[in-house]
Amino acid sequence: MSYDGAVEKREDPPQPPAGNGGGTGNGMVMASAPGAGTGGRPSSYGDRRLRLNPNKDHKPERYDDVQTEFDPSIFSSLERHLPPSMLEVPRDAKIQFMKEILARYLPEGERTRVQKHREYRNRILTAYQPLHEELYNSHPSAFLVPSFIKAVSEKTEESLRSIMSEPSPGVYIFSMLQPRFCELLLSEVENFERWVREVKFKIMRPNTMNKYGAVLDDFGLEKMLDKLMEEFICPISRVFFSAVGGSSLDSHHGFVVEYGKDKDIDLGFHVDDSEVTLNVCLGKQFSGGDLYFRGVRCDKHVNAESQPEEVLDYAHIPGQAVLHKGRHRHGARATTSGHRINLLLWCRSSVFREMRKYQKDFSSWCGECQREKKDRQRQSVATTKLAFLRREGESTA
Ligand SMILES: [Zn+2]
Repeated sequence: MSYDGAVEKREDPPQPPAGNGGGTGNGMVMASAPGAGTGGRPSSYGDRRLRLNPNKDHKPERYDDVQTEFDPSIFSSLERHLPPSMLEVPRDAKIQFMKEILARYLPEGERTRVQKHREYRNRILTAYQPLHEELYNSHPSAFLVPSFIKAVSEKTEESLRSIMSEPSPGVYIFSMLQPRFCELLLSEVENFERWVREVKFKIMRPNTMNKYGAVLDDFGLEKMLDKLMEEFICPISRVFFSAVGGSSLDSHHGFVVEYGKDKDIDLGFHVDDSEVTLNVCLGKQFSGGDLYFRGVRCDKHVNAESQPEEVLDYAHIPGQAVLHKGRHRHGARATTSGHRINLLLWCRSSVFREMRKYQKDFSSWCGECQREKKDRQRQSVATTKLAFLRREGESTA
């Protein structure tokens, strides 16, 4: 059994500096270089120390328009760690302050990586000629089945459940993509791969486990997939996945994977580097390739046994989507004939990732943490009962 808890590293948003070794031992991290506040640069905003624990009541601003080598979501995450005096200053001052911090703490290697990936993407975007422009320019609703659009627009658990099945807790299955969209996307991916072969372009694969497939975000589909996440996956995740950051999804990694002869055959047991994963089969003709699930686990319990109700095998149907937590352990059985291509959208929440660093109990979503918690509660009830009975016995003796 092999696990790959961090299947996809290179898209991780850079982490804020809190708790990275720069701590002063008092629960805070110095934002200023030593001496900067005394003999150095004057500090216009008083206390400049970051708070180790995020301010959960503060609603951070959006920084999508900020042009830096950092992912805009990191500014929103970091804002919750700003000293109280900085929370209400003008946005520009906050940006300047956070840029200084990030430049000081973020490893040079990470910055270079982000910059290199941006250049890589630009090289593809300037040279690759898309085949189906409508994939890039249409609103995603043009590609979705009407029942799905209607259910999501109502945004209630009832409307969503009316089009979904949940064969095992936390695994939702529903009809999502129109056949025409599947065909267009398959054809676009083929066209992209033909171009890659022709110009001998060395592409980055979607993750460390798949040798075949392509990152859709890298050749121009990022905006369309972002809309798909914001307008369709976010409303569903708010209802079903709020315990794992489903209410604060703010970035995605979109790709296709390919299975069959001369492609990947199967996929080992693993968890995704996502909070919420959308997995939709695009086609084509194939047999085998079932997806299997074995329950949701935190890092500590990733190898813990599964319970009978957590065991699920699912056979892909083109156009039909599977939506689950990234931490839901799963794998894909061998595709025994034909070719199978799936669209994957890994949806992430920088806020959830930030908060997770300070948590130890994951019983709101980890099946094993839940079991342990129930055991503890049962034991404590038994102990209390026993103590009560003893006291009763003593008083009547
Ligand atoms: Zn756990």
